[in-house]
This record gives sequence, structure tokens and C-alpha cells, in this order.
Amino acid sequence: MSRPIAPDEGGPTRRLPGPSRREVIEGLAVELEAGGVHGARYEAERVLAHVLGLSRTDLLLHTNLVVGPEEAGRIAMVSRRRLSGVPLQHIEGTVAFRDLVLVCDGRALVPRPETEQLVQAVVDWADGTEASGGVRRVVRKDRTTQPPLEVALDIGTGSGAIALSLIQEGVVSRAVAVDVSSPALEQAAQSAAGLGLEEQIEFRKTGGSPWEAVGLEETFDLIVSNPPYVADALIPGLPAEVRDHDPREALAGGVDGLDVVRRIASGASSHVRAGGGLFLEVGADQGEKVRRLLEKDSCWKTVRVTADLAGRERFVVALA
Ligand code: SAM
Ligand code: GLN
Repeated sequence: MSRPIAPDEGGPTRRLPGPSRREVIEGLAVELEAGGVHGARYEAERVLAHVLGLSRTDLLLHTNLVVGPEEAGRIAMVSRRRLSGVPLQHIEGTVAFRDLVLVCDGRALVPRPETEQLVQAVVDWADGTEASGGVRRVVRKDRTTQPPLEVALDIGTGSGAIALSLIQEGVVSRAVAVDVSSPALEQAAQSAAGLGLEEQIEFRKTGGSPWEAVGLEETFDLIVSNPPYVADALIPGLPAEVRDHDPREALAGGVDGLDVVRRIASGASSHVRAGGGLFLEVGADQGEKVRRLLEKDSCWKTVRVTADLAGRERFVVALA
């Protein structure tokens, strides 16, 4: 029979096989914070949850449990990747966007919260909660039985975030999603299949102009795009997470950032149905310029710029 071991002899508290989850989170948060990661504590929790294969909520229910050496090794590896600028969403392999969880592994841009607001602008317009040229559209609040609109065109679909949300939220019955990037289209198709929405979305690869992938006579109830809009010269100054881990073709918009916007503007009004609309996300200082560009096309009844939640005028809406 062995006698009880006193703590100072390497007793139960000393012989724990590793630190507690709480200690790991705290250590990791300090490391990430020192490496310039914003919201370091929250990210530390997510990193540990990811390594342990738990939801963050389940992780936080039992923070006294011990983290073993094998897991500690994996945490150190993930932490190094994160500190080198790899976005948390690439580490997790998924990203939350509105009601969806999408595949996210670097083949397409990590969708941003501002783009959730662009989708909200479309949803509000489709629901008729937005006035259009002084005339309110028919309000059809119940989107559960029949989507109010038939088809959307998403230009530069990337992860598929915009098109898949519009389908899943019942705004449109189907969407055509175009992109110049095959890897992005593959990633988006994987998300669509995972969500069971593959029958309602058609992916098309395009070349230099988005309109190459659209039939001459083909029209849509709405056209939506978050195009690349960063001026080329500003790319080197972007945060490492964006500059080194988002695809360059998702960011670079030419000398003034508006190359793709101009291409979209050159064809949009001939591919939008009467009563339809064009919804664009642009850079914080580009709203007015893009409004003036679209106003040159007399097919639009109204063109307006609206602000994001931070008050920056960056959504341009043109209604036909
Ligand atoms: N729609 C996604 C989102 O909002 O998160 C991705 C937007 S990302 C800023 C821009 C996307 O446009 C990228 O996927 C890029 O490959 C695509 N793209 C770039 N040039 C294009 C062009 N000329 N025609 C169509 N898509 C283009
Ligand atoms: N919003 C992105 C950024 O973080 C730019 C994406 C785009 O060009 N549409 O810079």
C-alpha cells in the first residue's frame, strides 16, 4: 500500500499531465496579443476549440480539464501559423457568413462583415422595405414559401458568400455565380454542395470581362458584386493576413482600383430586368466616383450610395 503523496513531493496537482484549458487559453492569448492579433483572447479560445475538435461553447464549459502534450504540440503549430499572418478562418477551414458556414481555405477571399451588409441591402430591397424611385415595391415579407425574385447574378463570387446567402435566405430561386478564378469557383462549389444548394447555383468561369460568361440576351432580377477594388499601389500596405493570404485577383483593381467596377458598369444595365437593380460594394473613398460613373448610363432610374455600419459610403445601388 502506498502512502498518500504530499503536493510538495509531486502529488496530484504536480503530476497533472499538462496545463488546464484555461491556462492554455491565457498563455496563447498573451502570445497572440504580443504578435499584434486583435481580439487575442477570443482567437485563443477558437484556436484551442479547433485543436480539440470542440465548439467554443463546449470548450468554455470545462476550462479546468487538462490539455495533453500531443494537443499542446498542435496548438503551438497553429499559433505559429496564426502569428505568421494566416487568417483564423483558413486555420479552421470555415467561415461564418450571415446564416451560413462556408468552406474557407485560401482559394477565395475570406468574406468580410461589410459584405454581409451588402447582402442585407439586397434583402431589404427585395422585401420592399426600401423605397425605389419614390415607389415602394410590393412587400412580400414571407420568403419561406416563394422567393420574391427568380435569378441573381453574382460577379466575382469568390467563396460564393453572396449568391449562396441570397438563395438560402429565399431572396432568389437561383443564382449565376461568375469568377475569373477556378480555385475560387471550386471552393464555392464545395460550399454549395455541403449546403445542399448546388441545384440552385450555376458557376461560370469568365475571362477579363464578367460579361464573357453571360449570354447576350440573358437578364437577371438583380446583379450584385463585391469586386476587387483596391488600387494596385495600396496592396503592399495591406495587413499581412489580407496581402499574403487573400488571392491577389480578389483585391487588385488596377491603378485606381476601379478596373472591374468599370467593366461591370459597362454591361450591367443591359443584363438587368425592368424593376431590377445593381448592388456594388466599393472602397471607402470610391462611392461618389462610382455613383457618377453609373449615372452616365441613362438606363438607371436612380443611383445612390449608402453607408456601412461604420458610416463609410461604400454601397452603390442602381435601380432600373
Ligand atoms: N464575392 C466574394 C465576397 O464578397 O467575399 C469575393 C469577392 S473578392 C473581393 C472579388 C472576386 O472577384 C474574386 O473572387 C476574384 O477572383 C473575382 N474577379 C476578379 N476579377 C474579375 C473579373 N474581371 N470578372 C469576374 N470576377 C473577377
Ligand atoms: N475589403 C477588402 C480588404 O480588406 C478588399 C476586398 C475587395 O477588394 N473587394 O481590403
